[in-house]
Amino acid sequence: MDIEQFRKAGYQAIDRICDYYYSLQGKPVASQVEPGYLRKALPPSVPTVGEDFQVIADDYQKLILPGLTHWQHPSFFAYFPTACTFEGILGELYATSASNPGFNWSASPACTELEAIVTDWAAKLLGLDAAFYNSSEVGGGVVQTTASDSVLVAVVAARARYLSQHPEVSMEELVIYTTTQTHSLGKKAGLVLGLSVRALEVSFQDNFGLRGEALRKALEEDGAVGRKPFVLIATVGSTSSGAVDYLEEIGQAVASYPFLWLHVDAAWAGVSMACPEYREPCQLTAVNKYADSFCTNFHKWGLINFDSSFMWVRQRQNLINALDITPEFLRTKHGDAGTVIDYRNWHLGLGRRFRSLKAWFVLRSYGVEGFQKYIRDTVKHNEAFAKLISESAQFALVVPPFLALTVFRLEPRSLPKDKLNELNRAFYSRLSARSDIALTQTDLNGTFCIRLAVGAARTTEEDITRAYAIMCDEAAVTLKEWDESS
Ligand SMILES: *Cc1c(COP(=O)(O)O)cnc(C)c1O
Repeated sequence: MDIEQFRKAGYQAIDRICDYYYSLQGKPVASQVEPGYLRKALPPSVPTVGEDFQVIADDYQKLILPGLTHWQHPSFFAYFPTACTFEGILGELYATSASNPGFNWSASPACTELEAIVTDWAAKLLGLDAAFYNSSEVGGGVVQTTASDSVLVAVVAARARYLSQHPEVSMEELVIYTTTQTHSLGKKAGLVLGLSVRALEVSFQDNFGLRGEALRKALEEDGAVGRKPFVLIATVGSTSSGAVDYLEEIGQAVASYPFLWLHVDAAWAGVSMACPEYREPCQLTAVNKYADSFCTNFHKWGLINFDSSFMWVRQRQNLINALDITPEFLRTKHGDAGTVIDYRNWHLGLGRRFRSLKAWFVLRSYGVEGFQKYIRDTVKHNEAFAKLISESAQFALVVPPFLALTVFRLEPRSLPKDKLNELNRAFYSRLSARSDIALTQTDLNGTFCIRLAVGAARTTEEDITRAYAIMCDEAAVTLKEWDESS
């Protein structure tokens, strides 16, 4: 493809993307294809002779689009939202147009400098303490691929810090602390690093948040048997139910354990701190006081296209101590002088994508006010849904709604409690068979429930009303079938 062919194909691509967004509403939310559908449709190897780009572009429409689940669909309420804005799309396009691996400052100065600036902007937007700004030159922010990568980096840094201060401790003695509600990224970090993980218990009456007392007890128990907890992965806004660990209590509990690194995973909820009214629900004061590292995914509920996991640390030196390997060919004048950030020492890979460009586009284009409005609108939609659920005689909230997430289930009074899981599985299986709405299931200490997470920018009040109407219809059919079979 030459430059003029690119120009033509590029205009066509933008036109087709616009058509996609105009037609999104009418598409099924979840893809309707069967496993293996694509292998049947594509040849087994690379074509011997290069093909015409128009044919390839047409095949995208014909073969790939039908296999996509439309996360931007107004009736997509599953998992958590995945941000996608036109500014973000264009940011990706420009970033890839000057494709480069930006591993250190001189590899492309703008990549490093813009990342350091937008992570400072984002830190201010969320109200993070100035200790986390790059401009502090002590702490700083970095854009990682995912919250899972952010945790992995935090655990690696925590481990290096712990072992440097306790050289007598062996790897086998180390323990990562999570809770039973921590995202699977905690277990995965243990798996990848070959470290044990202890999931601390949390309870229904604490809304699944970790209490300081439970942490203190675990620290004492492990201390007594010679195990060495060195990091706690705490959560603000858990995946299952939006649970928030009691960070102020946790901070006080770890005051006598200065070597326990506190990582706060706020992958989904953290961006809501752009609105002052959601800062304390997200425990911002405690994050600022106690967290060694903090992560939130702007690619979820924060308008910046995947991947865009923002991570901040209080002491950048901890990352560098753990991850800096500088062979001769990576040495630079500025790196040696320590006058620039070399982001290769802040994450696992060497090369990295120019992720900050789309962040810069999106944050400038929305501004603080636009960003806040989007967050507030989605919370408002969720509140409307939660209100319908809580006022209904047949549904019940399982935990209080948090921000833009509602966890609920069918609870008709006529049915004994021990039948409710079975009933709700039948209810959910009806919901998940529909193509016009997407939700997810979860289990909270043995209670099967259904999650509705609002976040797609196109979701309106009517979509919420329609979602509730679908719940009522499917509940009626589920209950009728239940009565007939029992
Ligand atoms: C989504 C989510 C994750 C996982 O995020 P990735 O970026 O896909 O790794 C982790 N923790 C919480 C609380 C989440 O909501």
